[in-house]
Amino acid sequence: MSQETLAIHGGPKTKTTPFGTGKRFGFDEAKELLEALEQNTLFYHFGKKVKKFLSDFNELYGVKYSVATTSGTASIHVALGAAGVTVGDEVITSPITDQGTLIGILYQNAIPVFADLDPNTYNMDPKSIEARITPRTKAILVVHLAGNPADMDAIMEIARKHNVKVIEDCAQSYLTKYKGRLAGTIGDYGCFSTNDFKHISTGDGGIVTVNSGDEQDYLTTHAFADKNFKRFGDTVQKELHYVAPNYRMTELQGAVGIAQLKKLPWICEQRHKFGDRISEGIAGLPGIEPHKVEAGNYGTYWFYMLRVDESKLTCSRKEFSAALAAEGIPNSAGYIASVMYMQPLFQKRQAYLGSHFPFDITGITYEEGLCPNAEAILETAIRFGVSEFYTEQDVEDIVTAIRKVANHFAKVPAL
Ligand SMILES: *Cc1c(COP(=O)(O)O)cnc(C)c1O
Repeated sequence: MSQETLAIHGGPKTKTTPFGTGKRFGFDEAKELLEALEQNTLFYHFGKKVKKFLSDFNELYGVKYSVATTSGTASIHVALGAAGVTVGDEVITSPITDQGTLIGILYQNAIPVFADLDPNTYNMDPKSIEARITPRTKAILVVHLAGNPADMDAIMEIARKHNVKVIEDCAQSYLTKYKGRLAGTIGDYGCFSTNDFKHISTGDGGIVTVNSGDEQDYLTTHAFADKNFKRFGDTVQKELHYVAPNYRMTELQGAVGIAQLKKLPWICEQRHKFGDRISEGIAGLPGIEPHKVEAGNYGTYWFYMLRVDESKLTCSRKEFSAALAAEGIPNSAGYIASVMYMQPLFQKRQAYLGSHFPFDITGITYEEGLCPNAEAILETAIRFGVSEFYTEQDVEDIVTAIRKVANHFAKVPAL
């Protein structure tokens, strides 16, 4: 068998060594946790850990105010609440995302409106956003997918023109930069998740940045995560003017977060380097569209997702995926099960069991074909993990395997 025979056809496997792994948590986290317990309180307002976690985060991000929460989902809900998103408002967002992006919209009894995506960055297309603006639009909820920044200049311009708020979902995009500026600091609020699958983990948790730097805005955001208690220095305002959930982070998450934040720059640098190297290594291959990060931007690759163009290959996406897996590169054909609006929740227009509220306020329906690029992305994507613990050899093996499979199946071989 020649070297070029695919492993799936009995040839030699590309990846013969295990992928690099490592420990995410260690002595630093343990020390912080012990200190948290020794405070004799795990309440964020009495202890020092959540406060320190946020002040470290603020310094890293160059923002004045942020609020800690229990999850990325909670962070987004808090930002929506602080932005004044309420019953019957429309929020424009992405159809390829985690449901955590949408839950807060619906809990505010607002209506998700989906904009289509750029075919290769997988982020919202500003032209599609603008086409979806109506008098009901209250906010644009931008998802920076997989560590790749969306086109923020164009999005901010649309937002200013139509006087709507911008909330950035950065759950997958730590230290991601748009033209040198950190994603999460450009819109009105930036939302982060520290669930166990993100760049850094506190088990579960989240952060919201308040980018206006305005004290009143901060107090509103803070109160929205703490049952409307406005705790600020030694004062607590307890008047209840509207509904706000309890999304308080505990000192345990704060403690782990302090230690995790110290590792974040290294984690993001590694992922940036590996992701960009994969794009460079597979550039120009027949039938392969790399994960595109626009020139001047900085991606921190929460995952890597390429697209296959079946018209240029003699195989289907499924066969490509299986051949790549046989070479020793585990991957999935596609990402989420479907674009969000094809989920039963939207097809049945059932946010709450047995009710069509808030969808029946405007009579909105969600049809297949609403966002053709997003649908096509999910039908042609091949996705695999990028880890900060990978070695340079791991990354070269990924490149070699993709090249081998693409060249084998190319209708017109690369020169
Ligand atoms: C993970 C994720 C969320 C939700 O975060 P949780 O902490 O799991 O609630 C929201 N948006 C995106 C894009 C995510 O990847």
